[in-house]
This record gives sequence, C-alpha cells and structure tokens, in this order.
Amino acid sequence: MGEKKCPHCGEWSSWNLNSRDTCDHCGKTLGVKDLKYEEQRASDKKVNEENWIFYIKEDDNEFVKLLKKIGNVFYVIYMSIVTFLAWLVAALPG
Ligand SMILES: [Zn+2]
Repeated sequence: MGEKKCPHCGEWSSWNLNSRDTCDHCGKTLGVKDLKYEEQRASDKKVNEENWIFYIKEDDNEFVKLLKKIGNVFYVIYMSIVTFLAWLVAALPG
C-alpha cells in the first residue's frame, strides 16, 4: 500500500498502514510510535470512562447503580436536546 521509514534502521520499507507491520530490512515493527499512541489512547479512554460521574462500578450497590443508570439516561436526553438546539440555530437562516 505504501512506504514507511523504519524508526529502527532508517530504511524505507513497504507497509500496509498497519502498525504491526515489520521492517523489510531489520524485521522490527514499523509502527512503534503509532502502536504506543493507540495504546495510550485506549488507556486514556478507559480512565475517562472510569472518571465519568455515572460510571457504574462493580462494587456499587444496587441503589447507586440505579441512580447512575437514570443519570446516564438524563445525560443522553440532555445531550440530544443540546445537539438539536445547536443544529436548529445552525440551520436557521440569517
Ligand atoms: Zn528497519
């Protein structure tokens, strides 16, 4: 599909836009930086989810779980209204 400069040996090597492709010259993975970036993003996403106010933890009791579920529903409704209003304002002429 394309070529990528190997981060290990500096030679150009063919790759298929896959971060796990290996270098033709030294055999090491080409997308080291991309791979780390992906892992970093995945862990950031997990942290964000766990910091979310309505994130349901395994050790929450039933009442807290219920409250969080209701909170999630209201949040989704609230966000749809905000999105709709934003769309309405953008769609209105003038
Ligand atoms: Zn290489």
